[in-house]
Amino acid sequence: MTDLHRLSIREMTEGLANAQFSSRELTEHYLNRIAKIDAQVKSFVTVTPELALAEADAADALRQAGGANVLTGVPIAHKDIFCTQGIKTTAGSKMLDNFVSPYDATVVAKGKTAGLVTLGKVNMDEFAMGSTSENSYYGATANPWNLSHVPGGSSGGSAAAVAADLAPFATGTDTGGSIRQPASFCGLTGLKPTYGRVSRFGMIAYASSLDQGGPMARSAEDCAYLMNVMAGHDAKDSTSVNKEVDDYVANLNGTSVKGLRIGIPKQYFNVEGLSADVKARVEESLKKLEDMGATLVEIDLNMTESYVPTYYLIAPAEASSNLSRFDGVRYGYRAENPVDLMDLYKRSRSEGFGKEVQRRILIGTYALSAGYYDAYYVKAQKVRRLIQQDFLKAFESVDVIAAPAAPTTAYKIGANLSPVEMYLGDIYTIAVNLAGLPAINAPVGFDQDNLPVGLQLIGNYWSESQLLSVVHQYQQATDWHTKRAAIAEENA
Ligand code: GLN
Repeated sequence: MTDLHRLSIREMTEGLANAQFSSRELTEHYLNRIAKIDAQVKSFVTVTPELALAEADAADALRQAGGANVLTGVPIAHKDIFCTQGIKTTAGSKMLDNFVSPYDATVVAKGKTAGLVTLGKVNMDEFAMGSTSENSYYGATANPWNLSHVPGGSSGGSAAAVAADLAPFATGTDTGGSIRQPASFCGLTGLKPTYGRVSRFGMIAYASSLDQGGPMARSAEDCAYLMNVMAGHDAKDSTSVNKEVDDYVANLNGTSVKGLRIGIPKQYFNVEGLSADVKARVEESLKKLEDMGATLVEIDLNMTESYVPTYYLIAPAEASSNLSRFDGVRYGYRAENPVDLMDLYKRSRSEGFGKEVQRRILIGTYALSAGYYDAYYVKAQKVRRLIQQDFLKAFESVDVIAAPAAPTTAYKIGANLSPVEMYLGDIYTIAVNLAGLPAINAPVGFDQDNLPVGLQLIGNYWSESQLLSVVHQYQQATDWHTKRAAIAEENA
């Protein structure tokens, strides 16, 4: 079979169950595609062919023996922020270029228990800081829709790998949009779950009160399969919530779009820098949802102007604290020939961290320093609460809130935006993390340069099933999620 990569996850599970193909054939198919195509896309930091084939053979044997789970033998790519025992985990940083974790992240362990086959680890902005994946020590990843554009970030390798059909789905993480924005830039579906739904154990920390892992795939249905694996309480993560997990696949038709109240925040559609094409495609998708029976309700989110300054204090503050562990002594990169301990610390961190990571550590350390703590950090925490209350008030009158995922489509590689220009691009995604809410991106068309546009739907706490279901029904009625970049049509 030459077109195994065109199957949906459901079709893949059916093909495996009916012995139409084996996990080994499926895995070899993806490994061949990676070998042939990824030189152009550069989505993988590490490919693990031997391990993948061993896992595939074990999956096939388990199936023969009658012990298979629904996903047994389906391949996956993991963002290189999830610790993998025996496979390098770099977080896109020189600091961790030689780091091999002694244990698996809970998300990775759950994937193994479910029978997923690991193809390898995919690229990302260093320590998940960025929106283009250009901040990686391993170089830029290309957007499969146009190789001179970025795939978005920080989960750009995950998005590019799926969009080029080098993996059927991938894990991502989202601290301020890093699942939704690359999904938007690459024409994919990506879900950022409620804070506490997916374990952060073994997921290298950026800003711990905002970080959350989630699925990236072609469709809501594909995401639901991966969400069934990823979600759940974990005693090893104290912020993981002990709450019953939905069956996201079984719930795909659980929410009716008929009568669904979709909030349209006035402030979001007047943002300076919102591209005309993005605005038009998002409005068309909302019109489609209206045709399917939803009601569009104009709402106010008055805190919109505070999102970027609040996030860019809290995230760097937490980052400066989290990244203090990389000191050249306990983990990762160590400077050569230090003259004393201070020199070892200074040079290990100056040489091991890239520019953007250093910028955030400096901002965060400043915001947390004794003289400025109340003026910046405490103030930002108070504004954070107001942002959350703004959403909770909105959810009194609507079921979900619609927004673009990003104000533009994918930037050109090397566009070299200033840090502030880059940060402003996060306006539609970061408030969701500050509030701890779930949100999903769905592809809804293209701009005039044939780059994908995404619609974001934000839900109330624990509404992952609802978000997946609404997007699933939209995807039953439209075909944007089935469009493939030319490079994904290439056969290996
Ligand atoms: N672009 C945002 C940042 O640079 C979000 C990144 C993320 O979600 N990891 O912080």
